[in-house]
Amino acid sequence: MVSVLADEATAKKLVNLLDDVGALLHGHFLLASGRHSDRYVEKFALLRWPRQVEEVCRELLSRLPWSTIEAVVGPTTGGLLLAFECARQLGVQAAYAERETEGSTRRVIRRGACFRPGMRVLVVDDVLTTGGSVRETLRALAEYPIEICGVAVLVDRSTEPVELGVPLVALLRLEIASWLPSDCPLCKEGVPLVKPGTTVREATQGC
Ligand SMILES: [Zn+2]
Repeated sequence: MVSVLADEATAKKLVNLLDDVGALLHGHFLLASGRHSDRYVEKFALLRWPRQVEEVCRELLSRLPWSTIEAVVGPTTGGLLLAFECARQLGVQAAYAERETEGSTRRVIRRGACFRPGMRVLVVDDVLTTGGSVRETLRALAEYPIEICGVAVLVDRSTEPVELGVPLVALLRLEIASWLPSDCPLCKEGVPLVKPGTTVREATQGC
């Protein structure tokens, strides 16, 4: 169950911000799940812009239902950038959950990060789809005697309920329709299909 933090006016402002940097793409997209969609969140169109990242992190942190956060942890790569910025604004330590080996679903906390027993840790990530990367991050943190305040993501675009065993909040919820290829209205119209991460780069603005 995801709680959405932004009120209607803030949500509108955030959607405009994402639109302005070219992070909300409209088209005909092949998702990692194999389904087709008419919208795609190109998170790095936002993560390339430190000022805008600063602003969305401020909006997120100002609405968190948790206090006394003592460290912020995020998964590579987008979550790492957000963990750094959130930790900077809070004046606490950031740590990064990296893949143990390339392609592995096991993550580890490296680079000298250490957690005091009982430390209150916030986990952050960019876009929630199935919750895979935050679940892996929580698993990596499970070996430390810390307290997880909760998980906070910028955008919830999940289509199935996500349960993590800890509180989960999203700054913004985006309802993005997706279809099986056989039911896709865009396929029926003959709109060319784009696999994000390849030709999406050409469709984004803000260079
Ligand atoms: Zn399609």
